[in-house]
Amino acid sequence: MEARMISAPNITPVVSFKDVTKSYGKVAALKEINLQVDDGEFLTVLGPTGSGKSTLLGMIVGSVLPSEGVIRLEGRDITRLDSVRCNVGAICQRDSLLAHRTVAENVAYPLQCRGAHKDQMRRQVISILALLDLVIDMDRYPSEISRDQTQRVLVARALVAQPSILLMDEPLAELEKAHRNALQDEIKRIQRALRVPTIYATHDRAEALQMSDRIVVISDGRIVADGTPRDLYERPPNLWCAQFLGTANILTVRERQRQGLEERVICDGGLQFIFDAADGLPDTDEEASVMIRPERCHLAALTSRSNAVTATVMHVRYLGGRQRVTVQLESGGSVIADVPGHWRPPEIGSAVLCSWDSGAARLVKTNSEAKA
Ligand code: ADP
Ligand code: MG
Repeated sequence: MEARMISAPNITPVVSFKDVTKSYGKVAALKEINLQVDDGEFLTVLGPTGSGKSTLLGMIVGSVLPSEGVIRLEGRDITRLDSVRCNVGAICQRDSLLAHRTVAENVAYPLQCRGAHKDQMRRQVISILALLDLVIDMDRYPSEISRDQTQRVLVARALVAQPSILLMDEPLAELEKAHRNALQDEIKRIQRALRVPTIYATHDRAEALQMSDRIVVISDGRIVADGTPRDLYERPPNLWCAQFLGTANILTVRERQRQGLEERVICDGGLQFIFDAADGLPDTDEEASVMIRPERCHLAALTSRSNAVTATVMHVRYLGGRQRVTVQLESGGSVIADVPGHWRPPEIGSAVLCSWDSGAARLVKTNSEAKA
């Protein structure tokens, strides 16, 4: 087996990108990427198609050469390393198995390439197949197993040589929902069991939210957010992330007034919000918007409740466990509120009171570009 670099625990990140850029002629696929992945971490790179996810992973695998910057793997500069990166386990986008080899032979392939001994190879293959519940399929050929079993075998193949890092590029994108959900849980279970640091690329926000320790949101080749799933969903740093990570009510800000430790924000229609100035608000010279998630908005029949605005029901979408109701605020603008699915559907055109949890509104930067 290849000797591993000795790295100081907790100090050297498993992978680090420093000012990394990738251009294809005039197309800048990645711009000024600075990123670190720590030991044991499950990091998801989330972004729409064409945002640069595969390019980023490809630079660690060695299939894409960076234009600028430095990439380190366990402390070692691999930016222009052209030898095979044995300590990287990867599932590439639309990866496949070798058709003329059985499941066990496919999984053994990375070990074989390194000239592992037969006994040791067999032990490692059986052990990873057992972890993925694949022992029963080990003598089958790829044409004899299902699509989701194939993805399982790809995971086994990527992990069999005990890599320093696991990279997965949209591995479940082509599976139907039930299989996708089952495999999401399974990949997470295995990653936790092995504690292998993982970078997972997806365009699916639900997948990113449920699987990751940390999410890096990438848009147009740039990192526009970096945080835990909960943080990014509830406290997105900018409007683009707020909308990419879930449905967001956006209120246009008309005026911001800093008053000591508070910031008073006045929106279109005269709605007012008070924010804690120390709560990571955008700089006062930056354009900002108020964001509220639909599940934190509430609708009630017209009564004398205070702290709520009058609104008219415009549209109701039944979604099973909840109903998504769009209301037109009397003060102008519309708000989406999620109410329980078993409620009698609010009547279109009826008047209701719309309110939101205190603390549910976030002031977010309108622009997703990092400030120079
Ligand atoms: P994602 O994986 O997020 O869908 P990619 O990393 O594949 O995005 O692509 C990022 C950008 O780089 C896209 O604009 C894509 O068209 C471009 N790109 C990727 N690979 C190449 C290539 N080999 N030649 C030219 N442009 C490329
Ligand atoms: Mg891709």
